[in-house]
Amino acid sequence: METHTLNEARKRLEPLSTQCAFCSTGTHSSNMEDNRFSPVYRIQDRTNLLVYRNVKFNEIQIGIPRCERCRKVHSNVKLASDIAIFFGVLLVFIIPVAFAIIFNTSTFGMIVMLIVTVGLVYLGVRALEKGILSACKVISEKDGALEEPLVREFLKNGWSLDRPRA
Ligand SMILES: [Zn+2]
Repeated sequence: METHTLNEARKRLEPLSTQCAFCSTGTHSSNMEDNRFSPVYRIQDRTNLLVYRNVKFNEIQIGIPRCERCRKVHSNVKLASDIAIFFGVLLVFIIPVAFAIIFNTSTFGMIVMLIVTVGLVYLGVRALEKGILSACKVISEKDGALEEPLVREFLKNGWSLDRPRA
């Protein structure tokens, strides 16, 4: 059964369904641009190409129906995580240096502090993202993509959610 139609100009598969896949409120997407478009990449030569009217795709965006509220939640999560990363990067510089000055730690101690701070910042950012999503009862863009049958179909055929390294 056809679930998507190809928009050749924008290199994306647009969903025919409108029921939001990210929340369980049953809300419908009212605008194509509210939908989430999740990119998939062809990773190896042997894997299937999506060929359409002689155009071969190495990368295509798969549309997942998303309501306006979920689009806003996702963009707020992105914003909050960018801000947290900004302050986190500052902490990564400040904390090890502060420790070195206050406690007169060795270079080795500074490196340990650096690693610990990077780890804590990473965990903090992830916790923040998860906290916002669960408070809003919305699943992440990645989890939504993994639930989409068409995305799974591409992954089964050797495509990847991660951009291949050149
Ligand atoms: Zn929704």
